[in-house]
Amino acid sequence: MGATHEVFNQSTPLAGLNLLRANRPLRDALALHAPGLDLARLDALGSEAGSAAMQAEARLANAHPPQLHTHDRVGRRLDEVEFHPAYHALMARALGHGLHGTPWVGGAGSHVERAAAFMLYTEAEPSVLCPVSMSYAVTPALRAHPALHAAWGPKLASRAYDGRFLPFEHKSAVTMGMGMTEKQGGSDVRANTTRAVFAETDAWGRRHLVTGHKWFFSAPMCDAFLILAQSAAGLSCYFLPRWLPEGGRNAIALQRLKHKLGNHANASAEVEFDGAAAWLVGEEGRGVPQILAMGALTRLDCALGTAGLMRQALSLALHHTAQRRAFGKPLIEQPLMKSVLADLALESEAATALALRLAVAVDRTEHGNDAHDSGHANDGHEARHTDDGHEARHVDDGHEAVMRRLLTPVAKFWICKRGSAYAQEAMECLGGNGYVESEGEGEGVMARIYREMPVNSIWEGAGNIMALDLLRALRGADVAPALEHEWRSARGANAAFDRAADALLRRIDGVTDEGQARGLARELALLLQAGLLQAQAPAAVFDAFCDSRLAGAADVFGLLPARHDPAALIARAMPLETA
Ligand SMILES: Cc1cc2nc3c(=O)[nH]c(=O)nc-3n(C[C@H](O)[C@H](O)[C@H](O)COP(=O)(O)OP(=O)(O)OC[C@H]3O[C@@H](n4cnc5c(N)ncnc54)[C@H](O)[C@@H]3O)c2cc1C
Repeated sequence: MGATHEVFNQSTPLAGLNLLRANRPLRDALALHAPGLDLARLDALGSEAGSAAMQAEARLANAHPPQLHTHDRVGRRLDEVEFHPAYHALMARALGHGLHGTPWVGGAGSHVERAAAFMLYTEAEPSVLCPVSMSYAVTPALRAHPALHAAWGPKLASRAYDGRFLPFEHKSAVTMGMGMTEKQGGSDVRANTTRAVFAETDAWGRRHLVTGHKWFFSAPMCDAFLILAQSAAGLSCYFLPRWLPEGGRNAIALQRLKHKLGNHANASAEVEFDGAAAWLVGEEGRGVPQILAMGALTRLDCALGTAGLMRQALSLALHHTAQRRAFGKPLIEQPLMKSVLADLALESEAATALALRLAVAVDRTEHGNDAHDSGHANDGHEARHTDDGHEARHVDDGHEAVMRRLLTPVAKFWICKRGSAYAQEAMECLGGNGYVESEGEGEGVMARIYREMPVNSIWEGAGNIMALDLLRALRGADVAPALEHEWRSARGANAAFDRAADALLRRIDGVTDEGQARGLARELALLLQAGLLQAQAPAAVFDAFCDSRLAGAADVFGLLPARHDPAALIARAMPLETA
């Protein structure tokens, strides 16, 4: 058939963009929190993550989801998952850029750098980062078992991805996952029925035999997992390898892979353990706090991942509306669209700022005084509290520990909760094209982003569980002085901010009512985001954020008060490369 019409007024693919250089808010957040950081590695990743080549891999890995092979040709169990080559290419990129365990062998600032890298990488929405995140998060829990940590730690930080299914001693790099959720209870892990029975003591410590199941067991081709099982002393944490140290496969049967809304490149299995060998990690009967040392960091990654997806959704919306004309001018110049885009820009920058602030708290608490010496953010502020440098560091360490504990549920709750609504609004900016899957290059990633958003809110503790965890965090620390300290430079800069901060600080230490916990998490998140924007962004961003979020709740995007200039907010967010 001949050409019936000319195709015009469609936007070009957003490809070949360096995602770091095009992301002014992220660069400003890094300048605030890690002023001495050498950006060369992030710059290289920014270029890679925005490339057409990585976009193609992300599309292929999602379009060709993993396949489970339970048995071989003659009926022997295999329990292996086969991935498309694009999946392995993406995993190699992720480990090559140190998105997994590298901060544990790096110096001060390495958790912050890794957090920024995680946000950049996830913009391509390849949905392969689940095992990468778990391999990052496992170290604090695994440290409780020095022998295993010594043996596995270096390979958890190795940048040479090794996707082969082999015993760990034959591999250059390993990945680890986690198994908590069972059919009868996920949030309520104390309902776990999987049993662990002591077998013997060997080179790896107390070997148990585990019998039972896990209803969700993502990335089952990981080399080992931390799991929860009931022992005589109660729920305990165990190290469960796919291969036995003496040789042979462990008794882990992959029953089937889940058919999921999104997250298609990642395999999520249902598994059964039939006397599988597993080694006790930490104290028997104290499995929940033990494995939550891992869960706290995967929660950080849920916030980082959502912030990265928001940024990509925003970039796509800005890029498209700048090119697409309707009713006589580019969409981006229509007043209502301006208001929507400016509001999305505010939300994206606030999410980036809050997620990175949590990573800063992780970095500072992990690296102790070193982190402070490295020239991190708000240096100078601490000096106000004491003239004695040593004491100032002590104050800071305590502050950062409180912030880490507080921000983990707050950031996970709020950023992830906003993610789905955000993706919907950004998708709408692209009109019908936003809703359509990609056949090749182009905006099809928007549909993937939309499908991915809810999982960050559900896994690693759904919204209510985060809100309840916030109440626990409030019970465990004197939070009001820490918040005053955190907000010290934002005080007096905006009336709505001051009013909201005063109101929250008056009641925060007394909140015990579970029914209030979501509202509290929301208020805290917004104030923390506002405080960060005051420090990292122009006053116009801070004021618009405070006036639109703290002076009354807006229920849809695009309701910025008229006095705020959307053009300035859009210009800051525009995905244009600057040096
Ligand atoms: C794609 C995917 C991959 C996953 N991978 C893994 C994995 O690798 N390992 C693993 O262990 N798990 C994994 N999970 C499971 C996930 O962590 C759980 O689904 C999640 O923690 C919720 O548990 P649940 O599904 O049992 O729901 P439930 O615990 O039944 O919760 C249902 C709802 O009730 C709410 N709720 C629960 N308790 C309360 C309460 N006291 N008050 C108010 N509300 C409450 C929750 O917030 C939630 O909204 C995965 C999930 C998904 C979707």
